[in-house]
Amino acid sequence: MKVTTTVLETRQLVRQWKKEGKSIGLVPTMGFLHEGHASLIARARKENDIVVVSDFVNPTQFGPNEDLEAYPRDFERDSALCESLGADLIFHPEPEEMYHDPCAFVSIDTLSETLCGKTRPIHFKGVCTVVSKLFHIAAPDRAYFGQKDAQQLAIIKKMVLDLNFDVEVVGCPIVREEDGLAKSSRNTYLSAEERKAALCLSKAVKKGQELIQAGCSAEDVLAPMRAIIEAEPLSKIDYVSMVDALTMQPVEKVEKDVLVAMAVYIGKTRLIDNFSYEV
Ligand code: AMP
Repeated sequence: MKVTTTVLETRQLVRQWKKEGKSIGLVPTMGFLHEGHASLIARARKENDIVVVSDFVNPTQFGPNEDLEAYPRDFERDSALCESLGADLIFHPEPEEMYHDPCAFVSIDTLSETLCGKTRPIHFKGVCTVVSKLFHIAAPDRAYFGQKDAQQLAIIKKMVLDLNFDVEVVGCPIVREEDGLAKSSRNTYLSAEERKAALCLSKAVKKGQELIQAGCSAEDVLAPMRAIIEAEPLSKIDYVSMVDALTMQPVEKVEKDVLVAMAVYIGKTRLIDNFSYEV
């Protein structure tokens, strides 16, 4: 497995692989890899000749009061995991390599204005910009993203469609801990007590799935979900919402495919979870 830190050396490898007619699968990550990331890498391994993992804590997707500095990092461990999963390359640049006082950005309207975009107004502009850059650097045939970040996945799919990126975006299911908590690099911030409290998210997801299957409308799904979370003293709801799966705009009735998504603070840690429902 190769490790690159510059755009130039990454491009040189990618050009050679393309010349040899090899297909490339890209897995963009911010590192501190867990089984959620591993599932994306394993899927990419199955479907492509070459697997490229990017490992980069992208500063442009963090707001001024967010956890950029505190975000967990362990490149040695990430590198060992990628090697064990058969990745061909990890691209691990420093922020200075990726950004030179930039003036060009990629942003997306409407889809980025709801759910996480409300609390994190610059987040998706940072995500779209870095993902566009990674698409240009790694020239993937396929790129793998988790349903865990469902709004991000919808936004990347729409960006690819609108801007004609020649890449297939593959969405992969949420990987959970045995007790239901969605795996996340941010789970490492939780104390033992908070870790228990964090179960209210996946419990609310389960309840929501039952209610939507029983034919309930949005508010009748969302209110009991909110009640489960509010019953947990360490929690504070950012949002619990039902939106159209494509436009990310709120819906009142389940008439088309929907996404039911939430962001909840457990202590100071902001966690997200969701489920999709297809009509
Ligand atoms: P991150 O490193 O948090 O930016 O995540 C990198 C990619 O891994 C994103 O596409 C995430 O959606 C995906 N991912 C993170 N956690 C999970 C999970 N628990 N299950 C599936 N995919 C995940």
